Amino acid sequence: MNPGATLTIPESAVTGERMHQFIAELYPICRSITGDGVRATLRRIQKEIPLAIKEIPSGTPVFDWTVPREWNIRDAYIKNSHGERVVDFQKSNLHVVSYSVPIRGRMPIAELRPHLHSLPDRPDWIPYRTSYYQENWGFCLSERQLERLADQEYEVCIDSTLEDGSLTYGELLLPGETPDEMLFSCHVCHPSLCNDNLSGIAVAAFLAQRLQSAPRRYSYRFLFIPGTIGAITWLAKNAETAYRIRHGLVLAGVGDRSPLVYKRSRRGNAEIDRVVAHVLRYSGREWKTTDFSPYGYDERQYCSPGFDLAVGRLSRAPHGEFPEYHTSADNLEFVAPESLTETFSVCLKIIELLERNRRYVSTNQKCEPQLGKRGLYRAIGGKSDSGQSEMAMLWVLNLSDGRHTQLDIAERAELPFAVVASATETLEKHGLLRDSTDALQAT
Ligand code: ZN
Repeated sequence: MNPGATLTIPESAVTGERMHQFIAELYPICRSITGDGVRATLRRIQKEIPLAIKEIPSGTPVFDWTVPREWNIRDAYIKNSHGERVVDFQKSNLHVVSYSVPIRGRMPIAELRPHLHSLPDRPDWIPYRTSYYQENWGFCLSERQLERLADQEYEVCIDSTLEDGSLTYGELLLPGETPDEMLFSCHVCHPSLCNDNLSGIAVAAFLAQRLQSAPRRYSYRFLFIPGTIGAITWLAKNAETAYRIRHGLVLAGVGDRSPLVYKRSRRGNAEIDRVVAHVLRYSGREWKTTDFSPYGYDERQYCSPGFDLAVGRLSRAPHGEFPEYHTSADNLEFVAPESLTETFSVCLKIIELLERNRRYVSTNQKCEPQLGKRGLYRAIGGKSDSGQSEMAMLWVLNLSDGRHTQLDIAERAELPFAVVASATETLEKHGLLRDSTDALQAT
C-alpha cells in the first residue's frame, strides 16, 4: 500500500532549493528583536503568504517584561590610522553587537579592547553577540582580524539609534472547521544566521503557503516573532484565547545536516508529542526525542505553567551545542536543501496525522462483523502487505469503541498510522465504522 494515498495533503512540490533561495534572500538583512530588519523580513515573507504585520509600542508592559525601545542601525566600523575600515558592518552585520548604543570617537586599542569579541578556538569565524537589556556597545570580529589590530588609535563608529518605536511580529491565522489551533512559531530576531533563524522561517512560510489551499479541520496559526520577548508579547496580548492552541511546534535550527530532534512539550505526553514521535519513528531516517527543559527557544514561554500549552520543538543539531551556533559559520553552506525538504515533509506528515487522528465506533460492538460476506477478504488478498492490512482492520474494529483515536490504535498495534487510516477508510466505506470524534468532543 502507498501510505501517501490516504493523506489529505498532496506530496510536496516545494523543494529544498526554493526554501534555500528564500533563505539566501533574507540572509543579508540585519535583524534584531526590533527594528527595520524584522520589518523587511516580514515584508519579504508577505510575498509568499498574507502575513499580518503587528506593531506593539515600546514601553508596553507584557507580564514581567516591557517591550524594549526599537533598535536600528545604518553603519558601523573601526578605522585604522590610514582611514581603512578594519572592521566593517557593511561586510557582515554580525560585526556589531546587536542593540549597541550609538558611539562615535577615537580611542587607543586598550580602550577599545573590552568592546571586542572574538573566538580564539575558531580564528576565522565571527561570533554573534547581543546586549538587549543592558546598554552597551561592541564589535565582533574574527580572531585573525583581532590579531592584526596594531597598537594605535582607532576611529570607532556605530551609527545606530535606540529609541521609542515598536516591536514587530508577523502573524497568519488560517481558519479551519474548528477554532482549535495548531501553532507554528519561529523566531525572526537573528541577523545573518541561517540555521538559527532562517531555516525555521523558510519552513514555516512555505508550510503556511501549502496549507492555504488545503482542506483544514484545525485552524493554523503561524507566528514569526522575535525570540523570547516576541513570544512573551504575543502571549500577553492573546492570553485569553491562547487556550485555543491545542497543538504547537516551535521550528528552529531545522536546516543543518544532523538528524531531526523533537523536544517534547512540558506535558510530555500530549497528542503533539505522540504524533511527532510516531511520524519520526516511521520516517525511515535517524531521529531523536528529548524531554522538555525550560531552556532553548520559545517553547519556554508557551510551556510556562500559566499556559502549559502542548507545544514542542522540532530542531536538528542541539541548541547551543554545535560549533557553528551563533557564529558566521551558520551560513548558507551550513543549511542543506535536502534537510529543509525533509523537515518540510515531516511537518506535513505531522499535520496530516493530526487532521486524521479521529475516533470511531464500530457498528458491531458485540463480536467481529463478518468481513468475508462484504468482500473485504478479497480486498485484503489483492494487496502485497495483506497481513498488515488485515491486522490493521482487526485492530481498528476492536479498538473503535469511541474512546481510542486512530493514533492510539496505531501505537497499540505497532503499525504505521497510514496503514490504520487506510483500514479505517475501507471499514467506514462498508458501514462498519461511524465517526464519533465530534460526539465525544461535545461531551
Ligand atoms: Zn540563537
